[in-house]
Parts: sequence; C-alpha cells; structure tokens
Amino acid sequence: MLIGVPKEIKNHEYRIGLTPAGVKELVANGHSVMVQVDGGAGVGFSDADYKSAGAEIVATAEEIFERAEMIIKVKEPQPQECKMLRPGQLLFTYLHLAPDPTQTELLIASGATCVAYETVTDARGGLPLLAPMSEVAGRMSIQAGAHQLEKAQGGNGMLLGGVPGVEPAKVLVIGGGVVGVNAARMAMGMGAEVTIVDRSLPRLRQLDDQFEGRIKCIYSTGDAIEQYAMAADLVVGAVLVPGASAPKLVSKALIARMKPGSVVVDVAIDQGGCFETSHATTHQDPTYVIDDVVHYCVANMPGGVARTSTMALTNATLPFAIALANKGAKQALLDDEHLMAGLNVHDGHVTNRPVAEALGYAF
Ligand code: NAD
Repeated sequence: MLIGVPKEIKNHEYRIGLTPAGVKELVANGHSVMVQVDGGAGVGFSDADYKSAGAEIVATAEEIFERAEMIIKVKEPQPQECKMLRPGQLLFTYLHLAPDPTQTELLIASGATCVAYETVTDARGGLPLLAPMSEVAGRMSIQAGAHQLEKAQGGNGMLLGGVPGVEPAKVLVIGGGVVGVNAARMAMGMGAEVTIVDRSLPRLRQLDDQFEGRIKCIYSTGDAIEQYAMAADLVVGAVLVPGASAPKLVSKALIARMKPGSVVVDVAIDQGGCFETSHATTHQDPTYVIDDVVHYCVANMPGGVARTSTMALTNATLPFAIALANKGAKQALLDDEHLMAGLNVHDGHVTNRPVAEALGYAF
C-alpha cells in the first residue's frame, strides 16, 4: 500500500503521524511511505532520517493526498485537508467528531474511510490510542505543578520532595485512571506525599496493590476531597466520566479555602475541567491565579513535549497501521472489532453511534 504522512498544519502542532522507526516497519512489511518535506522537523526527525528509513520525501501535501491510499496524521484534518480526501482513500488520525459538525460534513462529502484513533478500543474496555497521551499528560502534570510551586511562578515555595529534615509537599490526585496513576508515580518518585482519590473501589484496590501502600488511596467523596485539597500544595484533576463533561469536584468556595500559593493542574480541562474555577489555557500562557491558587489548565499538554508524544503515539498506532496496510481497510476492520470501533465515517455515512447521535445523523 502507498502510505502518506503530511506535515501537520494545525496551529502549534509539532507532532507527526509516523516516526522514522514506524516508517521502517511499514517498509519492511512491503509498503511504500511518502513523508512531506520537513514533516518531522519540529520534533527532531530530519528528512534524512525519514529517507534512510525508506520514505520518499514529497514537497507538498497536495501530492500526498493525491497519491496515497492511506493518510496517517495526528490532528483532525483541517478544512483544506478534508477537501483533498477522496472516495476510497483511508484516513487514520484523531478526529474528535462529536463536537465538530463542520469537519463531519466535510468527511462525509469526501467519500473517504475515516478511522479515528480516539474510538479504537481494546479487550479490557480501554482506549489504547488515547492512553499514550494520558500517560504523557499525567507525567507532565507533576513537572508543570512542581515548576508552578516555585515563588517566581506564584507558588508557595515548596519543593515537592523536601530535603532531609524538611517535610515534602503534599500532592492530591483526583481520579486514579491513566492520567492519575502516571501523575502519582511521578510525584512519588520526586518524594512528595501523595494521595489519590477515586470513586471506583476496584480501582483503589488495584492502586493500593500497585504502589504497595506508598501512596494513600482514598474513596472519592466531597468530604475527602475537601480535607485533602485544603492540606495539599498541589492538586491534579484527572477524572473522566466517559461521554460526559468532567464533574466539578472542587468548588470555587473550596479553592478560596486552599493554602495561598498552592497549585492546581486541571488535566481534565479538555472535558471542561473538574475545578469550578478552571478555564482552558495554552502553552504560551499556561496559568492564571484565582484566590491565591495558581491554575494550570493547558488543554493539549502532550503538544508541549511533542517529541516524546510523537514516539508514544506511533508505538500505539503502528500495529493498527500495519494491519490496515497489510490486509486493506475492509479486511483489517472486519477482522478486528476493536479497530472497527474506530471507524467513524465510511463512504459518505457516519458509522459511529455516539457521533451520529451527537450530530443528529441516522445510524
Ligand atoms: P481514565 O478513564 O483512565 O481515568 C479516569 C478516572 O476518573 C477513573 O479511574 C474514574 O473512576 C475516575 N473518576 C470518575 N469520576 C470520579 C469522581 N467523582 N471522583 C474521583 N474519581 C473519579 O481517564 P484518563 O485517561 O486518566 O483521562 C483523565 C482526563 O484527562 C480526561 O478528561 C482526558 O480527556 C484528560 N486528558 C487531558 C489531556 C490534556 O492535555 N489536558 C491529555 C490527556 C488526557
């Protein structure tokens, strides 16, 4: 199969759909890969790296969209990209269609087959192509939070790990899923005193086992959140209720009662955030202060560490990309119900029930 990887064009997006190592695997499977010139420059992969992995370097996105049988990207196609897609062509990327009627209409009009990373499933009920970005955001939340605790950033001047003779900072992680567990691991590794709250008892048992009692695993109630938030130096918001906006678990009144100079990192901001005082921010201007509490609410945290994120994403998408290329879209989708769950638009129709219901299409 002839596969094309265009340079991402969304504002401040430096990631790319395939690493050179990913290209090499596809080429070893007998496929040809075109990569747009400078496509990986933002994450330190040069055209020479892609060439030596076996890719053809192509000057324009137009040529890639015209020739490729499968397009592999990171972000949802922008309108000018949607208009270049054609019937029978396969698109494999993040789409997030439910809140995006314009993109959905353009993909329907294209006649292409569009498989969305975010709705591919796995046998344990997880979302394997979203998980790597949650791992990145969870780990990064502690790095960001530790920085914001410094006085010059508006923080209370606590070092997460303390030093011998001085107590460490207290970190509260709300939600013990993929983001939460990665945040807890980083905070623990830096020597902080860590508490996770979650509303799932089986999950709390698992975490207690995994961390062998080195972090506190507490059942999520309003009282527990209030008690631990008021004592905390850093609070990470990491909840998810699938298909719904994040519940507001920390009220504005509770923020006002937190320690001055404490920091909240709301990773769940992409679902509306779990602090009542949260609003989305950017890497260029990541924080603001309300009631002496520093808020970090960057909606696309993985973009800040685009090189790590690109590699993590390719590791997760590559097995599916190889299956799609080896078998062709139809057979690969029929053979794997989890990949089939990723099919969002095919041949002019919306083929994902939640997307169809959200946007009023027949299913
Ligand atoms: P996940 O499903 O793995 O974990 C969510 C956890 O929240 C679950 O363990 C669930 O039991 C828990 N939870 C739900 N309601 C709760 C409550 N009332 N109290 C305590 N815990 C509760 O999800 P995830 O992959 O960890 O993602 C978490 C959030 O981070 C999502 O909103 C996701 O979209 C977001 N995210 C944001 C970024 C970013 O750049 N800002 C990047 C990746 C993920």
